Amino acid sequence: MVKNKFSRREFLSNIAGNLAFFFLANTFLLKRLNAKTRPKIVIVGLGIGGATCLQYLNKISSLVDIIVVEKQNEYQTGPLSNLVIGNILKRKEICFKINKKKYEKVKFIYENVISIDVKSKSVRFSKDLKINYDFLILSPGISYKNDILQGYSVTDKKNVPHCWDGESNIIQFKERLTDLENNSKIIISSPDYPYRCPPAPYERASLIANYLRKLNKKVKILILDSKNSFTKQENYFREWKINYSDVIEWIPRRKGGKVTFYDQKKNLVKNSDGQIFRGDFVHIIPEQKAANIFYDSGLLNEGKDWCQINPISFELHHFRDIYAVGDSIDAWAMPKSAFSANSQAKVLAVNLINKILEKEYVDPVFLNTCYSFSKEDRAFSISAWYRLNVKKDKIISLGSSESNVNANNSDRKLEAKHAFGWYETMVNDLFI
Ligand SMILES: Cc1cc2nc3c(=O)[nH]c(=O)nc-3n(C[C@H](O)[C@H](O)[C@H](O)COP(=O)(O)OP(=O)(O)OC[C@H]3O[C@@H](n4cnc5c(N)ncnc54)[C@H](O)[C@@H]3O)c2cc1C
Repeated sequence: MVKNKFSRREFLSNIAGNLAFFFLANTFLLKRLNAKTRPKIVIVGLGIGGATCLQYLNKISSLVDIIVVEKQNEYQTGPLSNLVIGNILKRKEICFKINKKKYEKVKFIYENVISIDVKSKSVRFSKDLKINYDFLILSPGISYKNDILQGYSVTDKKNVPHCWDGESNIIQFKERLTDLENNSKIIISSPDYPYRCPPAPYERASLIANYLRKLNKKVKILILDSKNSFTKQENYFREWKINYSDVIEWIPRRKGGKVTFYDQKKNLVKNSDGQIFRGDFVHIIPEQKAANIFYDSGLLNEGKDWCQINPISFELHHFRDIYAVGDSIDAWAMPKSAFSANSQAKVLAVNLINKILEKEYVDPVFLNTCYSFSKEDRAFSISAWYRLNVKKDKIISLGSSESNVNANNSDRKLEAKHAFGWYETMVNDLFI
């Protein structure tokens, strides 16, 4: 049901038109920038948010110095990673190295950023190595809360890998899944909001069910949820009824879904009422917060989970010339997704150029579309449009549109095609 008066096509062409006009109109101004005042922009994190900022800022790379710092040589995307777990795609199909030919004037440093020194405006990435910045963009993604679930540690290698970022071992996850015997029980603990990609736990459950069925293994998948409802719930319920009615069971928080204790040796979890659930494969998706670098640099106080930003410039509250984008920020109505990070990063880049040119900021609009697969050829989606509130201090939703719950097979197939198309366009744009 479309709840707002704008069509998605109008909205998109508006954004594209504004960006094209922006770069054209500023070409003349940019040329007037004095070489002596070349600002130095440092981007930390070359995932979706960082790579999008790079793509847009690269358009003025002859007038500013751009340095990118990334800790991994290769980036594994979150989108479509559940299709690797579900044996639909190979891992290499979701892994990318940035095409440096597109960024001839940009310097890339492959190092782990340890901290940021606000006073000296520098980024430190090993004992003796640091670089200065005039403007710093941080898009380092998420980290995990280690103290929520008794008995569980994110770093314990014996656990089933959480696979909620590109560093967690997706191949090991899949091997452990493949090794399961007939009639095994899988437990998935789904976290409380906010977390990266809200529909992904349910997509993962669907694609695990799909994969193990192809291996002729009868399994039971129990989703123990820390929430009482979830995004695209009715579409998932319909898909599970059609495809996995004997396989997937969902237990909401109010019926004991909140897991509070984990015993790895005994392969069991307990809920807040002390009820025990045993599984052959216990998959904990940990609760999340902003990346560690924010805490290690004093940019975010312990107790706060997400960065507070100005929604026009994406500058951090209380920290001049430091910008944050993507999953690390509190973006109010916007969910944490690659689509959101991409949309936000375009605004950040355009308004940073405006700041450098001492021009007015553009009043931003944002978009998010999130596709979910229930099988390789069945997908559904939700799209939402966003603007700023009247006070211009937070992002609000203008409405959303979700796939029809009773969509037929060809609609589901078409949405799967759209999902692959969206992904291909995005990664081609950013990395290839
Ligand atoms: C299972 C799953 C499925 C998903 N499916 C979808 C989907 O279908 N659609 C969608 O829109 N989104 C999806 N997402 C969400 C998407 O992956 C994230 O929202 C998106 O990647 C956020 O972008 P980001 O730039 O904030 O962080 P990331 O893309 O994670 O990038 C962070 C980068 O920073 C680097 N970094 C971190 N710390 C440091 C440091 N200290 N020094 C140097 N480099 C550092 C990391 O190595 C990484 O490359 C999914 C996520 C998961 C887990």
